[in-house]
Amino acid sequence: MNYQAELVGVFGRPVAENPTGAMQEAAFASLGLNWRYLTIEVGPAGLADAVAGAKAMGFRGFNLTIPHKVAVIPLLDKLSRGAELIGAVNTVVRDGDLWIGENTDGRGFLRALREDAQVDPKGKFAVVLGAGGAARAIAAELVLAGVDRLLVVNRSVHRGRELVGDLVKKTGAKAEFLHWPDPCLEVPADADLLVNATSVGLYPNVEAMPSVNLRGAPAGLVVCDAVFNPAETMLLRHAKAFGLKTLDGLSMLVYQGVIGFEIWTGQKAPEKVMKEALSRELTC
Ligand code: NDP
Repeated sequence: MNYQAELVGVFGRPVAENPTGAMQEAAFASLGLNWRYLTIEVGPAGLADAVAGAKAMGFRGFNLTIPHKVAVIPLLDKLSRGAELIGAVNTVVRDGDLWIGENTDGRGFLRALREDAQVDPKGKFAVVLGAGGAARAIAAELVLAGVDRLLVVNRSVHRGRELVGDLVKKTGAKAEFLHWPDPCLEVPADADLLVNATSVGLYPNVEAMPSVNLRGAPAGLVVCDAVFNPAETMLLRHAKAFGLKTLDGLSMLVYQGVIGFEIWTGQKAPEKVMKEALSRELTC
């Protein structure tokens, strides 16, 4: 009998309401794996000690959430191409003696797009709303997946320009920035994807939606939302009313956990179990 569990977890502050542990534990239980996911509150001053502790205790990896996604980088040995481009890490994996930083937020979005919406972004024209952490991750992975064009639309000019400047400089991508037009954004007639990566529509402001005119949107447009609470945002409700295909933020959240599970365990993740566990937590 081997009583020693494999350990993974998340470090952050605040972290108590982070539902990832329930999703990962459900996956471990369903595959009969003796693994534990620990949800641990760590403030900025404690991050280096927490990472050293995880290394000393032989963790297989860990997630990072607010405020550690950038601060953890100097404590790691290597970054994945995506994490380097995004400039933030949300998942760390131990590979032999090396601690490697990944970013599964954008990869989770891509996997949801491919598997749930059945859309391959290669050669497409994508419009991303926002320039914060989620937008950086989504925009970077869309570029790595070979979108033909990327338009980043943001309220503050500085963050939007910085995101597009980084992508163009590091990848040569065909990316442009647009300061959010007043009173609302008209979706370009040749756009294939519209992704809301702002926090507009997030609980409790569930009646809000980004100021975008979907009335004249191209019929083939796929409208995606990173906001996962609620899963059906006002933006997605509007898009459905106009007959447009949609993808919710819950799928992105599940798949970023699915990718984390697969990176750590090397096994195919039980996606359905994970989605059900997460939905249960978010409706509690
Ligand atoms: P940030 O705080 O880093 O960025 C917020 C973005 O929203 C900025 O671009 C900001 O613009 C924009 N924004 C905020 N309020 C408004 C407004 N009233 N009008 C226009 N733009 C606005 O947050 P994150 O990027 O980390 O998160 C964004 C959303 O994505 C959140 O809802 C989060 O829950 C979700 N998310 C979902 C994930 C998933 O797996 N589904 C993973 C990660 C995040 P400005 O620069 O002008 O301030």
